[in-house]
Amino acid sequence: MILKIVKYPDPVLSRPGEPVTEFNAELHKLIADMFETTYAEQGIGLAAPQVGVSKRLATIDLSVGKEPKDKLVLINPEIIFREGKQYEEEGCLSFPDIREKVARAAKVRIRAQDAQGKWFEMDGDELLARCFQHEIDHVDGMLFIFRMSALKRDLSLRKIRKLQREGTW
Ligand SMILES: [Zn+2]
Repeated sequence: MILKIVKYPDPVLSRPGEPVTEFNAELHKLIADMFETTYAEQGIGLAAPQVGVSKRLATIDLSVGKEPKDKLVLINPEIIFREGKQYEEEGCLSFPDIREKVARAAKVRIRAQDAQGKWFEMDGDELLARCFQHEIDHVDGMLFIFRMSALKRDLSLRKIRKLQREGTW
């Protein structure tokens, strides 16, 4: 089922998600729906708050549904190591049409639980590192516009207000 994506400034996006404690059929349905929703939007990552569910859960698939082995489920995720810097353009399904450069660590190691509740660690660099940081920010209630420079954030907020006035946000 394709879920409705919540847009900025819905308050659920700015609230830290609740820890996931039950690894049951309801969770597995939510995960499947999140992947389906991401593919429908041609996205590479989605966090539960973006579909209005205030939980510490994110799904990532850099292949956008082409490689089953690329499907990643991050439950109660945290970054345990970060190194270096990168400065690349990011977008977000909760901010349609906004793309700006964001400063991120070049490499990260994350720790998370999978869909069965098993803990794992994983390293990522380049795009995967950015995606880990962007999605883990979401489960913490942090949004990418607040990682932009003040100038780029102001430009983005101005663009959003214009789209809101035009009724297209
Ligand atoms: Zn996002």
